[in-house]
Amino acid sequence: FFMRYSSLLMSAVLASGLNCTAVLAQDKIPVIASFSILGDLVHQIGGEHVSVTTLVAANGDAHVYQPTPQDTIRLTKSKLFVVNGLGFEGWMERLVSASHYKGKVITASTGIQPLAFAGEEDEHHEEKGNHDEDAHQHTGLDPHAWHSIPNTIRYVHNIADGLSQIDPAHKGDYQSNAANYVQQLEQLDKSLLQEFSALPAEKRKMITSHDAFGYLSHRYQITTIAPQGVSTESEASASDVAKIIKQIRKEQIKALFVENISDPRLMQQISKETGIQPGKPLFSDALSDEKGPASTYLDMMRYNTEQILAALKQ
Ligand code: ZN
Repeated sequence: FFMRYSSLLMSAVLASGLNCTAVLAQDKIPVIASFSILGDLVHQIGGEHVSVTTLVAANGDAHVYQPTPQDTIRLTKSKLFVVNGLGFEGWMERLVSASHYKGKVITASTGIQPLAFAGEEDEHHEEKGNHDEDAHQHTGLDPHAWHSIPNTIRYVHNIADGLSQIDPAHKGDYQSNAANYVQQLEQLDKSLLQEFSALPAEKRKMITSHDAFGYLSHRYQITTIAPQGVSTESEASASDVAKIIKQIRKEQIKALFVENISDPRLMQQISKETGIQPGKPLFSDALSDEKGPASTYLDMMRYNTEQILAALKQ
């Protein structure tokens, strides 16, 4: 029966010709991305061949995310799971095992040079103990690697390679989409390097609520102070805040930012005590929704650096 069925199918395929390719083209590869920034990268590279679902949506916080039963089902139906790695998605392994996912997992940050985050943070985590044990992995590494464009270029190649492996028929498209996108990334990075280096070093200092911009700071030589540390889970102590206020005054720092995913109260307090007006919220760990100013990775990088440059120039 099977043979007969397949030969029937075969003649149907041959007979329908063009029609059939149209049907196959609609057969998109289901891909899951752990958070919105990766979702956009997968979308840029996969184009029409993939359908991307993002687990932690726009303006969501992946540090403290709790996967839902829906996520388990979505993952079961997907062929590729793209994650950041570096301990960012502490909940990911549990999700993979709970859903008995057998598809491919790509760690987008593979091959980048990770930055360590400044000491102390682990102490904060131990003391607080008010979060899910799995929510954050203590890798000692800063997971926010996408804020350096050269790292994101690495992400793009890793994603293009992963897609090419599960869908070799469209390898050419994935590689050429990646090449075009990398060109845009390189162009933006080049102009940002010029703009930041035009500012005197003593002006390149900023405060952000959680330490998400270590890689951006490293790339463009900005000194960044973050009272909340590297994860949104930790809270700054009163003495941390007092220390930062002292430092702001001493070093005459004028750039103060909150992130789209962080509680703004701490920064409001610092702003009140120092008289510094905070800039518009930066997008750190999630894109904006479609109407917002940072609904793609490239827009996010343009928007954040525009705000930062304007604040540093004061
Ligand atoms: Zn973060």
